Amino acid sequence: MESCSELSYTVPKLTDFSTSALDGAVRELFSALEQESAAVASENDWKAFRDRWMARKNGILTQLNDLWLKAAPGANKRDVGQRVNDLKPKVEQAVDATLARIQSGASSGKLAAERLDVTLPGIRRTLGAEHPVIKTMNEIIGGFRNLGYSVEEGPEIETDYYNFEALNFPPNHPARDTQDTLFIAWQESKPLRDRLLLRTHTSPVQIRTMQKMKPPVRVVCPGKVHRNDAPDATHSPIFHQVEGLAVDTNITFCDLKGTLDHAMKALFGSSVKTRFYPSFFPFTEPSADVQISCIFCGGKGCRKCKQSGWIELLGCGMVDPAVFAFAAEKQPAYDAKQISGFAFGMGVERIAMMKYGISEIGQFFAGDMRFLGQFA
Ligand SMILES: [Zn+2]
Repeated sequence: MESCSELSYTVPKLTDFSTSALDGAVRELFSALEQESAAVASENDWKAFRDRWMARKNGILTQLNDLWLKAAPGANKRDVGQRVNDLKPKVEQAVDATLARIQSGASSGKLAAERLDVTLPGIRRTLGAEHPVIKTMNEIIGGFRNLGYSVEEGPEIETDYYNFEALNFPPNHPARDTQDTLFIAWQESKPLRDRLLLRTHTSPVQIRTMQKMKPPVRVVCPGKVHRNDAPDATHSPIFHQVEGLAVDTNITFCDLKGTLDHAMKALFGSSVKTRFYPSFFPFTEPSADVQISCIFCGGKGCRKCKQSGWIELLGCGMVDPAVFAFAAEKQPAYDAKQISGFAFGMGVERIAMMKYGISEIGQFFAGDMRFLGQFA
């Protein structure tokens, strides 16, 4: 409400009580009521407005009684009384309506202040995507799943027994050297086979699987492994492997060749050829390295395959009877005279680097979104 000095309306003292004079006075009063109501902008304004018109003592309605009704001559009293009575509910109504207006105005002001524009773009959360290593690992696993293999996992912190001894690593094998293996500190008081280390391959999972499952067994074991390697373009102290194990009666080297040839074709395309070279691993006999025809030049020879047309990709072999003997300590069904099997293992990063043309293994682990975003 504007300041009181601007409220110009005062109840006139009537001297003329003719109908037309009364009509005029009432019109003037209503127009003042309307104007003052329109000027009310807050609840405090409204209280002043209400009191000005309705206060028992000296409110405008009270003044009407004194200045109009009491002043009216006897002949006009009835007419004036009727008009003053009619005015009361109209003023009350106007006061109530004014309050309703400012209250709804206040809530609409509050609404305006708290307005939420649902069409604004908002904060966009970027969708996560598979890391290229995990993606490649899942592709490798997928190929073996289609052949009926299941997935087994094991601990990353292993005992010397599972990581080396049960896999037929001779006591002086270089892999047991601290140069290659990250051992957990303060283990010297334990017997060698109980000492903890970061597993150097996922092969311990093969032993753990055979200990809990009788043959036939067909499993792939994906996971993170650790070597005490200085990082360079193709070496990282952390990398991933997928190993596989198949044990049954009458498993032969032909099964191994056919399985890996199929897996490499599933991974790199049906035109890829494989070949097997004699190799050595403590836990397989005979052992082989598997090469695939160069996926870059198709076998013609290029810089990537050092002009040979072939790329070495994984190791494999027939499970050494000594390994079955370790498994048979807990699961006698692994009798090397009754069963046979093959195992293979591959580095996931190496395959991912080939598939995606990545030259630095460290890029997988640097957490650079510009690099990783390319695989989303
Ligand atoms: Zn090539």
